[in-house]
Amino acid sequence: MPARSLRPCTHAGCSTLTVRGKCDAHRHAQEAQRGTSAERGYDATWRKLRAAYLREHPLCECDACQGGKVRVTAAQVVNHRIDIAERPDLRLEWDNLQSMSKAHHDAYTARTRGWGRANRA
Ligand SMILES: [Zn+2]
Ligand SMILES: [Zn+2]
Repeated sequence: MPARSLRPCTHAGCSTLTVRGKCDAHRHAQEAQRGTSAERGYDATWRKLRAAYLREHPLCECDACQGGKVRVTAAQVVNHRIDIAERPDLRLEWDNLQSMSKAHHDAYTARTRGWGRANRA
C-alpha cells in the first residue's frame, strides 16, 4: 500500500507517477535547462538587481554603443562583464553589470562564448 498518493508528472504528455510535481526525469531535464551558462543562478534577487540596473542604465553599454556615447540603442538585458562561470561571486556585483540590447548581447555571447554549450549532451 503506498504511503503517499502518487500523481502523474505535470510535464505535458508524461504519465510517470511521482509524489509531487514532475517525475525525476523531467525535474532533471528542467534543472539541466536552467543550468545553462546563460541562466545559471538567475533567481529573484538577480531579476530585481537587473531591473534596477536597467532603470539606471537604459542604453546599451556594449563596446560599439558605450551607453549612448557612440550609438543610442535601448538595452533590454544585463550582461556580466566578467562571466559568472569564472567569477560566480561577482554575479550580484553592480560594477560587474553591463546593460545591452538583446541583439548586441546575442552577438557578444556568440563572439565570446560560442553557442555550443547549451546543446551539450
Ligand atoms: Zn515526466
Ligand atoms: Zn550595443
